[in-house]
Amino acid sequence: MTTKTVKKGKAYLVGAGPGDPGLITVRGREILQKAEVIIYDYLAGKKLLDYVPVDAEFIYAGKKGGVKHTHTQEEINQMLVDRVRSGKRVVRLKGGDPFIFGRGGEELEELVKAGLAFEAVPGVTSASAAATFAGVPITHRNCTSSVAFITGHEDPNRAESRIAWDKISTGVGTLVFYMGIKNLPSITANLIKHGRDPQTPVAVVRWASMPYQQSVVGTLENIAERVLEQGIKPPALTIVGDVVKYRDSLNWYEARPLFGKRIVVTRTREQASELVALLTENGASCLEHATIAILPPDSWQEADTAIEHLADFDWVVFTSINAIHSFFQRLLAKGVDARQMHGCRIAAVGRVTADALWHYGLKADLLPEKFTGEGLVEALLAQGVSAQKILIPRALEARNVLEKGLAAGGAQVTIAPVYQNLVPLAEGRELREEIETGTIDMVTFTSSSTVHNFVTMLACGDNKELAALLAGVKIAVIGPITAQTVAEYGLCVDVQPATYTIAAMVEAIVDHAAQG
Ligand code: SAH
Repeated sequence: MTTKTVKKGKAYLVGAGPGDPGLITVRGREILQKAEVIIYDYLAGKKLLDYVPVDAEFIYAGKKGGVKHTHTQEEINQMLVDRVRSGKRVVRLKGGDPFIFGRGGEELEELVKAGLAFEAVPGVTSASAAATFAGVPITHRNCTSSVAFITGHEDPNRAESRIAWDKISTGVGTLVFYMGIKNLPSITANLIKHGRDPQTPVAVVRWASMPYQQSVVGTLENIAERVLEQGIKPPALTIVGDVVKYRDSLNWYEARPLFGKRIVVTRTREQASELVALLTENGASCLEHATIAILPPDSWQEADTAIEHLADFDWVVFTSINAIHSFFQRLLAKGVDARQMHGCRIAAVGRVTADALWHYGLKADLLPEKFTGEGLVEALLAQGVSAQKILIPRALEARNVLEKGLAAGGAQVTIAPVYQNLVPLAEGRELREEIETGTIDMVTFTSSSTVHNFVTMLACGDNKELAALLAGVKIAVIGPITAQTVAEYGLCVDVQPATYTIAAMVEAIVDHAAQG
């Protein structure tokens, strides 16, 4: 007899932290990576959702302060219970810490009532993040030894307040108000009324930990007015107490050289993660834009015919990783066995391409000395290709150095397009709109092809229109060749490092910002 195991569901209440995706806990991330269902809130950092397997069920619970809730709390509780009951690993992801003004307790109580299993993972609460990223130590031995987290949601003028205003006003050192922007005038008036010094320093921090964090400092007496003047809206926190004065010397986050700068990072296939990481560390807000999209070819006809007659070829030549993956995915999709290639010899243009072949259990028979198209022609000619049948699966729009060189050596060359590189024009429209709002400070280019594609994406009528569009945007390039390409479009380069590395480029951008 076989025993049937019934899969048991479990709920995971996870704190997402204040917004910067780097501030989730290690345990929280681990749980996201194994989620089968995820129910998430408005405030939770969106990038965290990238950790969740794509085939999971994604449920947006809404809950945006002031705006109509997408789901009521009862509906959320019910969805949670239902999904866990059906045997799923359900992650309930909440902004900051779920137990601090997050209704985490209520949701867990529902699970207890239903007799279901759960685990809870704390998060960095926004008070802690706002304090750290605004340079305000929430306690300090020289001035405060107590702190209170208070909801500012409740109007202090309400007849039966649940907050003991008389006690907190003078009885607690640092006061942090969540959800209190709308009520700020009455909160501050009430604290003064109950004996707190009107000169007590106050900081209001919006979008703490995000590159677009904003903060306003004042006193109990004038902060409400300043917040109004600066147009600060939720989500923001109010920190009241003498600790706020330490910001004068500890305001590290907003003092970073590129803080508040919005920089477009253009990239081709290779990830621009090093550039993004370095710019972000210096305080910039990066907008990553891929300038190339890899798509299937318009027609598979040549590739399919070649795949059906693989045994006829003497050589199969691969010049890019994309060609390898697209070719083999097509081969497998057609149900063809890789052993059909047993009679073919395989050439790769370079080490990385050869490594990609290993994924399919194949070893390149030939690698050129110089990892270029020309190098590959030379290496193949040295093998003697006269009358040999050579298959080249490649991009639709590739250079034809290889084809010409081999044909000149007497080979019968078959080109099979297995993918095409396209400039993502729809993304280009978004990018253009973004530039038109005048909020982009700089665009970075790390190769000539990113320049060409970026210009194509913007779809300007001519160079004059392009220059007008980019008039307020600085341009940074990695080196002289990229700079020349920029100049060919009639644009000026503002930043160019002396050495052609990403680190040097970022240093040059930082220097440029310091001068400006
Ligand atoms: N559980 C959350 C709080 C939810 S209540 C936590 O632990 O942080 C929502 C309130 O939190 C907002 O109105 C705002 O006051 C505050 N808040 C959340 N994220 C914030 C952020 N990144 N910056 C400033 N305030 C934030």
